Amino acid sequence: MSQKVIIVGAGLTGSLLSIYLARHGFKVEVYERRPDMRKVKISAGKSINLAISRRGIHALEQVGLDKEVLRNAIPMKGRLIHPVKGELSFQPYSKNENEYINSISRRELNVILMNAAEKFPNVKLFFNQRCTGMNLESGEAYFTDETNSEQKIIIGQTVIGTDGSASAIRMEFLKSGFFNFSQNYQNYGYKELNIPPAAKGGFRIEKNALHIWPRGTYMMIALPNREGDFTCTLFMSHHKGEMNLSKFNTRESVSKFFNEIMPDAVPHMPSLLDDFFSNPTGNLLTIKSYPWNVGGKALLMGDAAHAIVPFFGQGMNCGFEDCYYFDTLVKKYGSDWGKIYSEFSDLRKENADAIADLAIENFVEMRDLVAHKDFLLKKKADALLEEKFPESFISKYSMVSFHRIPYALAMKRGQIQDRILMEMCSKIKSIEDLNLNDAFARIKKEFEKVGIQEKLVLEG
Ligand SMILES: Cc1cc2nc3c(=O)[nH]c(=O)nc-3n(C[C@H](O)[C@H](O)[C@H](O)COP(=O)(O)OP(=O)(O)OC[C@H]3O[C@@H](n4cnc5c(N)ncnc54)[C@H](O)[C@@H]3O)c2cc1C
Repeated sequence: MSQKVIIVGAGLTGSLLSIYLARHGFKVEVYERRPDMRKVKISAGKSINLAISRRGIHALEQVGLDKEVLRNAIPMKGRLIHPVKGELSFQPYSKNENEYINSISRRELNVILMNAAEKFPNVKLFFNQRCTGMNLESGEAYFTDETNSEQKIIIGQTVIGTDGSASAIRMEFLKSGFFNFSQNYQNYGYKELNIPPAAKGGFRIEKNALHIWPRGTYMMIALPNREGDFTCTLFMSHHKGEMNLSKFNTRESVSKFFNEIMPDAVPHMPSLLDDFFSNPTGNLLTIKSYPWNVGGKALLMGDAAHAIVPFFGQGMNCGFEDCYYFDTLVKKYGSDWGKIYSEFSDLRKENADAIADLAIENFVEMRDLVAHKDFLLKKKADALLEEKFPESFISKYSMVSFHRIPYALAMKRGQIQDRILMEMCSKIKSIEDLNLNDAFARIKKEFEKVGIQEKLVLEG
């Protein structure tokens, strides 16, 4: 097969996709707007590290990169909750020792993927090439060289847009008129901050956890980096509520807020004020679109098709899972791009919408519920039910993070489970008061009502 596939965007999804395609013998050209991050330091301050879990790892396993990636990652075994005052509390992600999520540097992961892609003689990466659009009829893609403004027209058999949430390829779909598109801005922004390594090296706070400072309508989280530092992210409304980002006008206001609201973090954040004012404020968007293809000429994948908020740690995992499913269709249909693209969209759309909604739900869980008694009881109930009914019950968090149950099914099952358990837990004082058989019977009945089969079908 010597067909040429043009990929726009060498981010996480595009780089992994190029490897999958190269293995089928296609000639793959990847055009990336930014300089080569292996040669040039690209500005920090925007999602420096990410949590990778089962779906992402599975997609890497297929191309033999899981071990290398995990060697560079730090296991996070649960959430470590930092209240304003009082003891920290640890909430394990799972009762199973081998179920945890992993913190990985975005840059390191992208570099591993690009290096692996370039090992294939049939893959070429081109940097500083900004896609300015494409002709959806002829398949021509247009690029401007960011270093000298030179313009190029590239043509291949097909174009795949993995150019992220502000996709230039998606813009062409939008102009065509035959396209559904919604962008939901959450009025929440995020600011990345830093906890450096301890003076003598090592980690200043617990290494193997995802730290959360839940504060009701906003929160700060911290994920460990291999160098011993933590990337902290403050998620807060831009304008709404008593406390919001627009109120941080002076160093004094930031200092006062952190000292009062995140007091245990402050001693570990010596560059807090400088970081706060020098790092950009990111925005959080949910993007839903459909259809993701124009015949066999063009396809959207990853954030270009479905950008989600980061609260389930699934955006990249979902993009990687896209690559895996795409590959199963290439195995089935060869280079019949029209068939591959429309089946791909049908297979993934419902699931991408589900994880988008789950991610929004999980924000409330992280910033607020984790500090509440009913929720803590529900977590215990989740663990007990998983133990007692292993073939039929898995918590929502585990279905999403430690299994490959389609997101849409995980959402349906998880929402029923959570609703019933939260209701039952609100009426008890201790977990011993919960009748597990009753709880399971109620869940089962609700499953039946909406046609969900009781037994779970698990893929490896
Ligand atoms: C704060 C934050 C935290 C997150 N945490 C997690 C997490 O813990 N776990 C998780 O799974 N996901 C997480 N995500 C989501 C994750 O970052 C995205 O889902 C993932 O990066 C999507 O990968 P992508 O390759 O589709 O898009 P991107 O990573 O956005 O890559 C797109 C690439 O295309 C290039 N590009 C853009 N426009 C053009 C153009 N016109 N021409 C050529 N190239 C172009 C860009 O330079 C970039 O390299 C987080 C996101 C944020 C914002």
